[in-house]
Amino acid sequence: MIRRLTGLVRPTFQYRAVEDINLQGWWEAGIRGMILDVDDTLTTHNSAIVAPAVQAWLRQAREMGFHCYIVSNNRSPEHIAGLSDRLELQALAKAGKPFPTGFLKALQDMALNSDQVVVIGDRLLTDIVGGSYLGMHTCLVAPVTTRPSAPKRVLYRFEGLLMRAGGARRKRY
Ligand SMILES: [Mg+2]
Repeated sequence: MIRRLTGLVRPTFQYRAVEDINLQGWWEAGIRGMILDVDDTLTTHNSAIVAPAVQAWLRQAREMGFHCYIVSNNRSPEHIAGLSDRLELQALAKAGKPFPTGFLKALQDMALNSDQVVVIGDRLLTDIVGGSYLGMHTCLVAPVTTRPSAPKRVLYRFEGLLMRAGGARRKRY
């Protein structure tokens, strides 16, 4: 039971940013799909701007054959639909992470097993816990925003403490 709980707060991978991810290594490890968070993972919160490096990384991932799928808790379906159109990715808004419904829909649409998929996000309690719970690989990234709001900083700090309690540590970049 305890091991199951600590496993939830231990990301499989940690990277500073999505564009630093070793795609070749993931492909060789049998990973074929990525479930992507949006806010503070691909963009700053509620922003429609995706940095050129992130766009190039997404393009490369898809050229290699990875399925990429956005699963976001963002409350604006229009905002997520806009990104989905521009990035040409399937997307789900108001996904209710960490609860399984959104993740399961993405897995079903991608027709992949959970152990072939990695969930990528900046938040431990939504992205990482939700992904681990369903047996997916998980990848924690540093938030895109370098100056998070005060409440967000408290949240990240709390999540850092939970990771430590689980025997892991949030990397600093
Ligand atoms: Mg996020």
